[in-house]
Amino acid sequence: MLLRDKVIIVTGATSGIGEATALEASRQGAKVVLAGRREEKGEALAERIRGEGGKALFVRTDVSVPADIEALVARTLQAFERLDGAFNNAGIPGPLGSLADLPVDEYRKLMTINLDSVLLCIQHQIRAMRKTGGGAIVNCASILGMVGAQTFGAYSTAKHALVGLTKAAAVDYAAEGIRVNAVLPGPVETEIWSHVNQGDAVFAAFTSGVPMNRYAKSEEIARPVVFLLSDWSSYVTGTSLAIDGGYLIR
Ligand code: NAD
Repeated sequence: MLLRDKVIIVTGATSGIGEATALEASRQGAKVVLAGRREEKGEALAERIRGEGGKALFVRTDVSVPADIEALVARTLQAFERLDGAFNNAGIPGPLGSLADLPVDEYRKLMTINLDSVLLCIQHQIRAMRKTGGGAIVNCASILGMVGAQTFGAYSTAKHALVGLTKAAAVDYAAEGIRVNAVLPGPVETEIWSHVNQGDAVFAAFTSGVPMNRYAKSEEIARPVVFLLSDWSSYVTGTSLAIDGGYLIR
């Protein structure tokens, strides 16, 4: 029970890596707050967790809306009276294509969801964690937060910045007992790829670069995230943990 009685927020919890992390965190003893836009899926996941004997609350949250993020943390404190950890995971893949042709409004939308929202999440999460003397935040970056990839210029820019934000926040709050780390998943078979126009061809190009020669399952990302949220990683902060089947060490 790595997370016994800890209160953990997961954004983008209604599918993929977020859903798997919420389930694993609950199985490790956490009370989980599920943040997402899709009410039906979120309530169903909360019900599933309660059915397994866990404690879960779904809070409808669009991370591109600052008031939603503020309300998410407020509802968490109202329901569970503290915040010990957060997995800032919500994200989108596009716009795809060459940077020279990138529509600026789509670039801004990507930055709002994949980067700015994490800053706002961190701000509210830190204010809440200070009240109980510490906590652990994990941001979901990507292998494309370390290297570039054709057609993924905007996404890669946002994920690189997220790695930077993680380091900056880690330094700022280490002395207050708040750890901030990032994970860098390689290709994971989730819904995010269903929105990628080039579909299988792009996905195949990624996986062909993975020494393990396969996609990850969401659970394989969830478990290291739980480790980083737990006290077992109590001296780990500001790091970016690759969970990529060896992609970045080729
Ligand atoms: P996914 O599409 O299943 O999950 C993304 C979640 O974010 C979804 O539940 C989606 O509804 C939610 N979301 C998107 N915009 C939102 C918004 N405005 N407000 C609230 N929620 C919002 O895909 P996933 O692969 O589980 O993605 C999770 C994270 O993992 C993302 O940050 C993604 O960039 C990152 N990632 C994924 C892969 C991969 O190959 N799947 C690789 C590296 C990093």
